[in-house]
Amino acid sequence: MVRAIVGANWGDEGKGKITDMLSKESDIIVRFQGGANAGHTIVNDYGKFALHTLPSGVFYSHTTSILGNGVALNIPVLFQEIKEVVGRGVPQPKILVSDRAQMVMPYHILLDAYEEERLAGKSFGSTKSGIAPFYSDKYAKIGFQVSELFGSEETLRDKVDQVCEMKNVLIEHLYHKPALEPEKIFQELMSYKEMVAPYVCDVSAYLYQALKEGKEILLEGQLGSLKDPDHGIYPMVTSSPTLAGYGAIGAGIPPYEIQKIITVVKAYSSAVGAGAFVSEIFGAEADELRKRGGDGGEYGATTGRPRRMGWFDTVASKYGCRIQGTTDVAFTVLDVLGYLDEIPVCTGYEIDGEVTTEFPVTSRLERAKPVLEVLPGWKCDIRGIRKYEDLPENCRRYVEFVEEKIGFPITMVSNGPGREDIIYRNR
Ligand code: GDP
Repeated sequence: MVRAIVGANWGDEGKGKITDMLSKESDIIVRFQGGANAGHTIVNDYGKFALHTLPSGVFYSHTTSILGNGVALNIPVLFQEIKEVVGRGVPQPKILVSDRAQMVMPYHILLDAYEEERLAGKSFGSTKSGIAPFYSDKYAKIGFQVSELFGSEETLRDKVDQVCEMKNVLIEHLYHKPALEPEKIFQELMSYKEMVAPYVCDVSAYLYQALKEGKEILLEGQLGSLKDPDHGIYPMVTSSPTLAGYGAIGAGIPPYEIQKIITVVKAYSSAVGAGAFVSEIFGAEADELRKRGGDGGEYGATTGRPRRMGWFDTVASKYGCRIQGTTDVAFTVLDVLGYLDEIPVCTGYEIDGEVTTEFPVTSRLERAKPVLEVLPGWKCDIRGIRKYEDLPENCRRYVEFVEEKIGFPITMVSNGPGREDIIYRNR
């Protein structure tokens, strides 16, 4: 069976922890989109890790971790991460890289930084990992596939020359920066070839066979529904689809094989980067939630940037779950809210004097004001509780209120960062 784990919101919902947990009963974990621009934080017996490129299954020796064709493959980052986890005592993970995955080129990272600098105050808040220039080139058909490293060197050299000629127009005349040197880039690619060679694989053929053998496969999404380029808060989105549906394409499996879509929803909101965020809070209230949030505060796993904070948003989450095709909701980081006397929840958007519970397009979203309902807090620490019935009544009320508003079953409640901090609910 294939299960997908995806986010309903702006990312950072705790997908890494859920994937790590479900990896135990899986054979294969596949990253199908995105790159080293976002990170998963995972806490397990080996310690605390921030993974940016490696799938979250790398900590189990029985799993195979795959980087599918849909990812933005940053080879040096991948190798740095493998080195780091192995260096900290994790057994050498079994990793496969799709021969159809495309590579983040050194100039993608440069162009990302140059463009952010040019836009200055109007920037997208990019992590400068080269993701937007990477996906632009992929669809402009000037990207580089891993398979090209293993073809004719002459052809590769010619293509590097061609692409550099084009990039240099921008670099020299728009950004006023030093021109790219094609030979240097070619040599860099040769070093990538050496690094990636042991892992390259025809991933869709591998997964086809695995499915025939009845293997358990997990697709691991990055970011969340609201960062999807089509269905999210365009243009403040990421550059690859964040939806489970794309899992079929980015891994190379038939769409009908994805039987479970586990959408991760966090018990409050956080976001990084610019863009409308209706339930956002500020000042001391936000600082307190940020400080207490997640495991050690709500700061970017890749950048260390403080995240923007907000109350739970049922409008955004209902939409985020629907657009993913959710079969199960994993409701995470509930333990963090135990300090609050009262917990506001955003249950509607007021736009031009009318209240809606349907998530609008960006131009309307920017005018939306939150409609808040206030629920009583439970004022205690719920970590360590393993049975739903043992949660305080007000805590269960909060979960059930959210479930009713979003309209998808919450089958898992996460009450701590560790693998064992999970409460299953039979719905
Ligand atoms: P991802 O990108 O969706 O995996 O999200 P992050 O890496 O930002 O994960 C959110 C943070 O919350 C991480 O530091 C996790 O260890 C932590 N976390 C996940 N689930 C829980 C939970 O139920 N409670 C607490 N306190 N922390 C959690």
